[in-house]
Amino acid sequence: MKELTIISGKGGTGKTSITAAFASLAKSKVMADCDVDAADLHLILKPEIKYREKFYGGRIAYINKDQCTECDKCREVCQFDAISEDYIVDPISCEGCSVCVHFCPVNAIDFTEHLNGEWFISETRFGPLVHAKLGVAEENSGKLVSLVRQQAKLLAEEKKLDFVIIDGAPGVGCPVISSITGADAVLVVTEPTLSGFHDLKRVVQLSYGHFHIPTFVCVNKYDLNIDISDKIEKFCQIENIDFVGKIIYDKIVTQAMVQGKSIIEFSDGAVAKDITNIWKNMGFN
Ligand code: SF4
Ligand code: SF4
Repeated sequence: MKELTIISGKGGTGKTSITAAFASLAKSKVMADCDVDAADLHLILKPEIKYREKFYGGRIAYINKDQCTECDKCREVCQFDAISEDYIVDPISCEGCSVCVHFCPVNAIDFTEHLNGEWFISETRFGPLVHAKLGVAEENSGKLVSLVRQQAKLLAEEKKLDFVIIDGAPGVGCPVISSITGADAVLVVTEPTLSGFHDLKRVVQLSYGHFHIPTFVCVNKYDLNIDISDKIEKFCQIENIDFVGKIIYDKIVTQAMVQGKSIIEFSDGAVAKDITNIWKNMGFN
């Protein structure tokens, strides 16, 4: 079983459309949506939830007013200004460090598990999907990403499937690190703009330079700026990174998404051919 994570330097590069196309192309796989901060793979895959579980990503402080003597010690030691003048902990500001709990002289502070979101195992027309929903303004998405990946791997092992195909988080922060560490391969999707090229270098430095994960690169909407597309391809050659293809710009990608279909289901035109070639060039057909 192989794990492939599709990532990008920022959101909106077409990463999810490409992931959904791979869902159409791979015969034996589990899909995982690890872009938990902005999950949208479900819009194409239309999952039917079979199992759901609450996700507790950490602990936060809770002050019992009937035990509190209002000595103010907790407010003095809290580095995050999370406790109000009337001794109420703001759950968003609380970092769960537990310092106040240790300093409270009358044990008035509980350190309770905090509900961050929910994760799901679903069925789709392409096979199983593991995905999640983070609560509004919740953090700990790195932990939730790890959980989604772990569950997808377990499912693939249990059902003896060949691939885990992961829609990873964008950027270079904690969620993307959780999306790629230990993966068998990473596909970086970029666009031919100066900022896209800049973001690509940072992501490649992370996946290939730092974690030494086999890294592939493709350019989406390459014909919007052929000069920068060529520079990206050249950069990959110099850095010894597998450049696996370019995808032409076509409005039908948006039309397919609006209709809840992968581009492979929607059309057999140039975009579908370009993505099929990328899949083959990675050696996954
Ligand atoms: S657990 Fe830490 S961050 Fe939260 S209120 Fe207590 S001291 Fe502040
Ligand atoms: S340290 Fe404990 S007793 Fe003192 S104000 Fe905070 S919660 Fe209340």
